[in-house]
Amino acid sequence: MNCKICATNSPVFFVDKGTFYRCPFCSLIFTDETLSGAKADQHYQQQWDNQQEAFRVQRVDDLLTLISHHRSTPDTCQFL
Ligand SMILES: [Zn+2]
Repeated sequence: MNCKICATNSPVFFVDKGTFYRCPFCSLIFTDETLSGAKADQHYQQQWDNQQEAFRVQRVDDLLTLISHHRSTPDTCQFL
């Protein structure tokens, strides 16, 4: 499965109710499952403490900015 941020081929990291992958380049942990519409809104509102979409979009933008800043030094993003 390719990382959803940097497209690096990523191995399985964890299997529970779904399969999770961990990117060896940027450390993103992600799943191949995709939520859409109302289910996605409900999921992200729960994950982000019921904040509105603008708040969630800003957090994602902050994260992407951080990742892109450190992309040239992959060791900086090794969280585990
Ligand atoms: Zn990645």
